[in-house]
Amino acid sequence: MENKKEKMKILLTIASVAAISIFFTAQLYRRRRKQRRPQSCCYLHSESKPQLSFKRVFADNSCSPFNHFNRQADSVNEKSSSLTHPYESEITTLMENPQLLFSKIAMDDFDAKMDDSYVWVETESQLSQLAQVLSEHRAFAVDTEQHSLRSFLGFTALIQISTEKEDYLVDAIALHDAIGILRPVFADPNICKVFHGADGDIVWLQRDFHIYVVNLFDTAKACEVLSKPQKSLAYLLETYCGVATNKLLQREDWRQRPLSEEMVQYARTDAHYLLYIANCLMAELKQQDCEYSSCPDDKFHFVLEASRRSNMICLQLYAKEVEDFPGASAAFSILSRQLNGQGSGPISGATKFQDLVRRLCAWRDLMARVHDESTRYILSDYAIVALSKKVPTTQADIYSTIIQADLNIDSSNFSSSLPSPSPLVCSHWIDVHQLIQDKLGNLDKFFPVVLQNCLGPNGSCPLSVFNYALLMNCSLKHETRLVSKQNGFKNPKQVAKKASRELFIQKFSCKSPVYHNCRIYANDGRLLCYCDHKKLEWYLHRDLAKLVDDEPPAIMLLFEPKGRPEDEDNDFYIQSKKNICVGCGEGNHYLRYRVIPSCYRIHFPEHLKSHRSHDIVLLCVDCHEVAHAAAEKYKKQIAGEFGIPLYVRKVIDLNQASIISGSSDSMNFEDSGVSPLQLRTAAKALLRHGPEMPPSRLEELTQIVMRYYGGREISKEDLERALVAGMSPHERRRLEKKKGLSLKQPMRILPVIEQESNNVTKIISTTSDPSKVDNPDVSDFTADVSQSTKVDTLKEALGTKDEMDFSMDMDPMGNKLWIVY
Ligand code: AMP
Ligand code: MN
Ligand code: ZN
Repeated sequence: MENKKEKMKILLTIASVAAISIFFTAQLYRRRRKQRRPQSCCYLHSESKPQLSFKRVFADNSCSPFNHFNRQADSVNEKSSSLTHPYESEITTLMENPQLLFSKIAMDDFDAKMDDSYVWVETESQLSQLAQVLSEHRAFAVDTEQHSLRSFLGFTALIQISTEKEDYLVDAIALHDAIGILRPVFADPNICKVFHGADGDIVWLQRDFHIYVVNLFDTAKACEVLSKPQKSLAYLLETYCGVATNKLLQREDWRQRPLSEEMVQYARTDAHYLLYIANCLMAELKQQDCEYSSCPDDKFHFVLEASRRSNMICLQLYAKEVEDFPGASAAFSILSRQLNGQGSGPISGATKFQDLVRRLCAWRDLMARVHDESTRYILSDYAIVALSKKVPTTQADIYSTIIQADLNIDSSNFSSSLPSPSPLVCSHWIDVHQLIQDKLGNLDKFFPVVLQNCLGPNGSCPLSVFNYALLMNCSLKHETRLVSKQNGFKNPKQVAKKASRELFIQKFSCKSPVYHNCRIYANDGRLLCYCDHKKLEWYLHRDLAKLVDDEPPAIMLLFEPKGRPEDEDNDFYIQSKKNICVGCGEGNHYLRYRVIPSCYRIHFPEHLKSHRSHDIVLLCVDCHEVAHAAAEKYKKQIAGEFGIPLYVRKVIDLNQASIISGSSDSMNFEDSGVSPLQLRTAAKALLRHGPEMPPSRLEELTQIVMRYYGGREISKEDLERALVAGMSPHERRRLEKKKGLSLKQPMRILPVIEQESNNVTKIISTTSDPSKVDNPDVSDFTADVSQSTKVDTLKEALGTKDEMDFSMDMDPMGNKLWIVY
């Protein structure tokens, strides 16, 4: 007995020591983490730039070469730094055999006057419709507007497309990740694309969207061939259409939304008349060919030549500029301008001056890459010269030198309207100071120092898809290693891991508090539950409740709910929830974590299944990783012990399912169904890239979708329906909202088929749509968490499939088996 007591005592002591040490370790860890968090000193922390919403960026700001589209490889897995044009053979064929089909369009009914109607394209569904419309045309006209001031490489902000019937303005910012839908029509050799002065547009479309133009008619090239006195668009508009245009608008900020009326007018004008002008020029080219055909020895084919020169432009490939060291060419041009006597005043200590110019140019270049800004936005050439001459020693001195230099710039110069000194210089002036004071070491040493200051483990600047590869790529690899050693980081891999972790948090952690902690009271003043804003609004909107408090808001129901949670021992609903990680208390980022993996959840009875908030908790990225790994391990163990398969969730089209299950009881769903994720990915790829896919891949993906439809032939409509297969009505509504589809679109989704692992098919009808619940009861107060985390396309979304070291193979998708028919 005594012995037992003794043992108990020891055990208790060990347990309490363990508990205390865990507590302190956790505290310490939390505190350390707080210390490691970068101070928000960079101006970008308080500014949002539209390109930060881009998920897929083909050209980042690192020095790694641009990967062109690889037609051979799997379109999802594209990785090709090849220097051959993906459509080279199509283009060269066209150069010998032009397909300038636009000349067959009857231009008689061409609307020479531009009316008020145009189509603003800003949703994916509108874009798909546009792709469909264009695929039915023989020719269309295109122009793009770029934004370059607040971006390192520049990006396409607007794409203007005109057919002879309609002008389309495509919002290339809102649709940045979706514009690829237009790839097939641009690459179709049977559709002629008319541009004016396409050199820039051709490579910009490659850079931003992997769009390659095949079959181009460039009206500027036609002018050349015809030896016109001028080849500007303004000249052509004036001559052929009697239209004047103000080219100054070219330099507007094309990111702004909505566009001003004037900008819309300008943008439309750039594309609207091109088909008509192309037609006129084509007639002239043909006329020339006819006239010259009388002397066959000296034959110059005008049409052929115009087509050849146009398609030569298409063969250009986008490439990032390569320099010996960052800013080298800018430094070279500044210094040669100085040497040519354009700079004023004698320079004492010429080598010191040159050295400073080079350093400032290098710093400016690096900062532009890190912050995704143009170099001119950061610091003008004039300011660099002035700083290098004056070598200011204080912050005030640095600022006034820059302001003075920028004031001296000719006031007609565009850059004079830029903030001086730039917000970047203001938030990073210490860099400039140290650089001028020669404290950053020589050129090749200070790159990694600057990068570490900005993006390194204690970096001050936000990480983005534009700058994250800078840490690893660039020719900075060995320097990074040196610096990371100095900072106690063992290897670049760790730095990389840290970088992708930050990026992961940025992209996938919840963007707003998950728990809104709004309250719902019964009419006797007793608390029923906490919930989100949406739920409150649902009741308020239907006059089922009145607002009794704001911040956070609370409502009181105007009807008698079925029971009270407390009476039913359901305190869970009346606890407010904190927006922090339940593992470590991290409050700055967290994502939803499902406690019960969906492969088990599908076996739950309906009343448990419909209340997802029960098993969703918030975890920070680190705890999420730990929890997920543990769950995976446990799942495998359960699978081994009880024979519960991990992924049985397959869907099949209900029409086909009833045929199958009706015809044969022994039909094996395992063989006939398909996982919803696999199905949707296949359907999406087929819709987007079907025409360009290698036949074997096309067949493979088609087979997957066919399996969903019970093996029958599939149509385009089938593909579109497959896109939403396996989604709950809620997920579907979110998708529709995202794509701008009308909710009124006929889509019957209610009856649900649920497939169990023993091949029994069950049909349950569902009322998860709140509008169908006319008398909500307590069980409907499922509280605060309504959305599921969807991280299945994480790697795809980051666009850095191969570099992603920090992957989180989370539950691939929602946990229900909703079947569309
Ligand atoms: P455009 O081909 O005239 O429609 O011009 C397309 C884009 O090129 C514009 O949105 C500008 O971003 C850029 N661009 C062309 N020429 C200039 C210029 N002289 N100055 C500034 N930006 C220009
Ligand atoms: Mn334009
Ligand atoms: Zn910064």
